[in-house]
Amino acid sequence: MLPYTIIIGLETHVQLLTETKLFCGCGTIFGQPPNTQICPVCLGLPGALPVINREAYYLAVKAACALNCEISRNTKWDRKNYYYPDLPKGFQTSQFDYPVGVGGHLTITDPADAEKQREVGLFRVHLEEDAGKSMHDEEADKKSNMQSTRIDLNRAGMPLLEIVSKPDMRSPEEAYSYLTELKLLLMYIGVSDCNMQEGSLRCDANINLHIAPSPSNRLKEVLKTPIIEIKNLNSFRAVRAALAYETNRQYQCFLDGEYVGDFAKQTWLWDEAKQITRQMRTKEESSDYRYFPEPDLLPVIITDKEVAEVQKSIEYRKPPDVRKRLTEQYLLSAYDADVIVNAGWEVAEYFFTLAKKSGNAKQSANWLTQEVMRILNQQNIPIAEFPLSAETLAKLIAAIDTGKIPRNQAKAFFAEMLKSQESVETLIQKLGVVSIPQEELDKIAEQIIAENPNIIAEILQGKAKAIGSLIGKAKKLNKNIDPALFEACLKAKINAG
Ligand SMILES: [Zn+2]
Repeated sequence: MLPYTIIIGLETHVQLLTETKLFCGCGTIFGQPPNTQICPVCLGLPGALPVINREAYYLAVKAACALNCEISRNTKWDRKNYYYPDLPKGFQTSQFDYPVGVGGHLTITDPADAEKQREVGLFRVHLEEDAGKSMHDEEADKKSNMQSTRIDLNRAGMPLLEIVSKPDMRSPEEAYSYLTELKLLLMYIGVSDCNMQEGSLRCDANINLHIAPSPSNRLKEVLKTPIIEIKNLNSFRAVRAALAYETNRQYQCFLDGEYVGDFAKQTWLWDEAKQITRQMRTKEESSDYRYFPEPDLLPVIITDKEVAEVQKSIEYRKPPDVRKRLTEQYLLSAYDADVIVNAGWEVAEYFFTLAKKSGNAKQSANWLTQEVMRILNQQNIPIAEFPLSAETLAKLIAAIDTGKIPRNQAKAFFAEMLKSQESVETLIQKLGVVSIPQEELDKIAEQIIAENPNIIAEILQGKAKAIGSLIGKAKKLNKNIDPALFEACLKAKINAG
């Protein structure tokens, strides 16, 4: 038992997958030359008027629905005032008192027990515009003996969704699990690509400790350490490492007698190179931003019907629902279901078609998670670029099931299909299948049963393994027998008496 409870809340920003910015028609492509995707609106030039991007609003509502939030039917925009070189307007257009979504939760898997799930509550989900990027060149500064900042405003005005969790997480591992599940969900419903390298997903973490009274620490009541907000977290691993570091640092400060009174919330930075946190500045209170309603934009009204339509569009599309469908409807193991779900919605969709068209869910899962995913990983391609459609692969699986293609030739057929993309029928003619007609199989099974009464008796008494020796005997009669097909035929005859 730890002598303290860890209290973690996360603020996540995700860039929405729109073609244009939130309040103007500028493009949103990543990596364009600096200041080439800008206009008077996103620069905040006098007289320029913003216009809301309906698609961005729709995606925000979609995310809020998927996160089980209550959707505000009536929202307005607010100016969050602060000055920064990468924010030429001097304010950020955001949502203050009427966010897109209120409340809600995300279900995560307990990092200590994969069977257990728990809910992390959310305060709110709101839409706002992104700021530009500041870049510093320390070398150039040294040469010119002057501090300079270069500004790229391509990012200014991009639609950002802010998701604020409640302080419901109790370990750095849970925070990691929350981020993983959040990313998977947002990618599944097509709201964001969540690419951390390109800054489409950013996260700030809030952490403090509740230290319980004990004889050794002589506390009279629970002591709460000051809340530290950690910024500059560039990967999920960095989030986990920074939170673990900060837990130890805060407890050590307490042991050193440093926490005596109330402290304001502080902002710290994660130093990835040194793997430590360091202090940055004291956190602004929301009153410092002097929020006030944006006079240039109309309020957004969304009807019950529109919310219902969004809800319907994500039905069966959330990772927990897909996992459930795979295990309950298709009877896959939790492990197989997880492998498919974690590979993304397109892979799950491929599976559904494969299982439906082949009529064999278990074999579909095997082919998908073993052969298909191996090739995707090797060639580093998405499933959309896999040469075989689900319908084509399904025909191969069905042909194996019905005995048209012997099981021991399955891999050879698959390899040939990948190369030539020819149909099962063409390949059977081309490769030549040594398959045995059902009548022949029946005849061999009957002969084996007649010749081996003792073994049959053993099987009937429940010694299932004994069937292996009969398959061996059958193979001696005809070496081309497919073991699985023959076993099925034999079992049917034994059970029929
Ligand atoms: Zn613009």
